[in-house]
Amino acid sequence: MLKKPRGTEDIFGQKAQDFFALEMIIRNIMELYNINEVRTPIFESYDLFSRSAGEGSDIVNKEMFVFQDRKGRSLALRPENTAGVARSVIENKLYLEENLPLKQFYFGPMFRYERPQAGRQRQFNQFGVEFFGAKSTSLDCELIISAVEILNSLGLKDYVIKANYLISGENKDKYIKVLKDTFINMDLCDDCKIRIERNTLRVLDCKVDQAKFNKIPNMDEYLSETERDYFNEYQSILKRMDLTIQMDNKLVRGLDYYTGIVFEIISKDDRQGSQSTLLAGGRYDFLVEELGGPQLSGAGYALGIERILIALQNANISISELPQLDAYCIPLSKNAEIFTNSLLFMLRKAGLKADTSFVTRSLKSNFKKAESLKTKNIIIIGDKELKENHVIIKNQITLKEEKVKFEKILDFLIEEN
Ligand code: ATP
Ligand code: MG
Repeated sequence: MLKKPRGTEDIFGQKAQDFFALEMIIRNIMELYNINEVRTPIFESYDLFSRSAGEGSDIVNKEMFVFQDRKGRSLALRPENTAGVARSVIENKLYLEENLPLKQFYFGPMFRYERPQAGRQRQFNQFGVEFFGAKSTSLDCELIISAVEILNSLGLKDYVIKANYLISGENKDKYIKVLKDTFINMDLCDDCKIRIERNTLRVLDCKVDQAKFNKIPNMDEYLSETERDYFNEYQSILKRMDLTIQMDNKLVRGLDYYTGIVFEIISKDDRQGSQSTLLAGGRYDFLVEELGGPQLSGAGYALGIERILIALQNANISISELPQLDAYCIPLSKNAEIFTNSLLFMLRKAGLKADTSFVTRSLKSNFKKAESLKTKNIIIIGDKELKENHVIIKNQITLKEEKVKFEKILDFLIEEN
């Protein structure tokens, strides 16, 4: 039997409905914030990711699906979409003054070669927001508030928001030197031993043991005055909006392009396990320039759709129901079947949700099917009824059965709705 690739998922039934419902809830919030959709390709050049996330990042280093097309060009399935959106901003000249600040969002599948487990797949879906063209604390606040708004409107409460001001430029070099000197004398895991040279800050994000980093020098001691002021202002705006944020000096993002404020929203529910990060993001003021565009600041975040759905399930929150049919038709003969086609056409035109069995079934199993569909009405059409220009409608809630003339069917169904 052919099977889906490891780490992928077929989404159907209730889950597909939940995906759709979640997307609609988020889209409505995006409208309120005047954030517009962008759709970029699912595959991009390999170079886009190696230049943005960085060769030393886990994503590029060991998680990317890379392939060559028939002309030998090196491509990659996108592991994330900030790089793709930034590329699109440059390629479509969206950086022009009249478009700024540019506020965009996206939905779509991402691909990472990771060890599959609940909440961690090789193909998964992200929703993300990217802002370009204004470096301001109020834009940074708008960004994180939009993320919090999504969680709140879903009814999710059990989470913490962590933020940090990620050091950059000369100060970063200084701090990295201090870190290297400290790490050399520490007992680090094998991955981190490699990270000391490749991606020093990333060592702070080690999932194996955090406790050992308690005594190392704090990042904020190396921030410049301006950076510290920026971070303080950010915090005070959020405070005024009653948003409680935990400052976390060890919060570093795995990707090279982050500069300045970074944040993560983490579920406190134990069942989420090590897949507890619901969304994450931050500021990236040099990404566009590094990809060959003009100097253009940016900030964004990405949210894991599957992880949100798991969090909703854990919190017992349902966001969608399978649609309930208004009518399910059971034709009892070939003629009745033909009549059913026109009847369905008429019902649907009037906005009623209606269906029939299409396959020949016994009356009993047809009723069973109707029950499983939770239809409000069953319409039974037999040869005798056809001759007499009526059908039998059984209301599944009151269980009453009535003969209804053809021309009265619509009124009858609409009236009782
Ligand atoms: P993690 O630390 O959990 O690996 P990350 O830092 O790699 O997350 P980001 O690159 O920031 O994740 O992606 C943003 C969000 O996308 C994550 O917070 C998470 O909700 C989701 N996500 C990331 N990788 C996966 C995956 N393999 N499967 C499902 N969701 C994922
Ligand atoms: Mg990861």
